[in-house]
Amino acid sequence: MALIEIRNLVKHYRMGDSLVRALDGVNVTVERGDFVSITGPSGSGKSTLMHLLGCLDRPTRGTYHLDGQLISSMGDAQLAAIRNRSIGFVFQTFNLINRTSAMDNVTVPLFYARKTRLHRPALEALERVGLAQRAGHKPSELSGGERQRVAIARALVNEPAILLADEPTGNLDSRTGRQILRIFHQLHTEGVTVVLVTHEMDVAVQAQRIIRMRDGKIVEDLPVDDTMRARAASAEWHEAGGETAATADLPSQAPAAPTDAGGPGGRE
Ligand code: ADP
Ligand code: MG
Repeated sequence: MALIEIRNLVKHYRMGDSLVRALDGVNVTVERGDFVSITGPSGSGKSTLMHLLGCLDRPTRGTYHLDGQLISSMGDAQLAAIRNRSIGFVFQTFNLINRTSAMDNVTVPLFYARKTRLHRPALEALERVGLAQRAGHKPSELSGGERQRVAIARALVNEPAILLADEPTGNLDSRTGRQILRIFHQLHTEGVTVVLVTHEMDVAVQAQRIIRMRDGKIVEDLPVDDTMRARAASAEWHEAGGETAATADLPSQAPAAPTDAGGPGGRE
């Protein structure tokens, strides 16, 4: 049984007289321990899909099983419980509580889970992202990268089945973004299942698998290989508009340039 099974997932939004087909029949399976990137142009439905996976919203049609449980027919209270217990969500804008410390931010999910021990697990989660020494700092006293690490610690503290991150490096400079990606890598090697949305292909190819969306549909779902990683690091590839492995369908494309390991897509 896969960790995530979604079948024919549809999400429509009504905007005045018109209907927005944000998701238009999506099928995805994610196995335990996978590291998956979701990419695609703005408006292609990435965040809508993440909100459904994260139990923040319900689909118009279709089914979602998480760990064998049928999520798509649950009520609000059940969804909230699943979110707290099984989902860790990391947002582009961190979404921390500003008036309180890193430590207190990380204890919030423990509090909602009615755990009696708060301090120790929160400190351990901060240690996992290398921020234990900043536990007493408020978000305003932390850099962007540190804030995102607090948000990751908060997402991990209840040991969720899956870590979802929607453009987690979108508000960070590229060097800080790479630090955050190293944390996701580390968590993946520790067995955490990760689904990461990004529109930057050099970020996307760090996963094991890339799902590419367009107009509310999945148009590509491929394992990442070294050729793809080399392509993502090459300048030509960026100029070609950032298609994934199927760059063969770009007839005018120049031969792939040698990998520039120091470039934006270079892995450290
Ligand atoms: P992405 O994350 O890939 O940029 P989104 O999932 O945010 O795309 O949006 C997909 C489509 O659904 C877009 O056309 C967007 O305008 C629309 N949409 C998203 N959320 C809402 C909403 N709450 N109400 C109406 N339309 C929405
Ligand atoms: Mg989005």
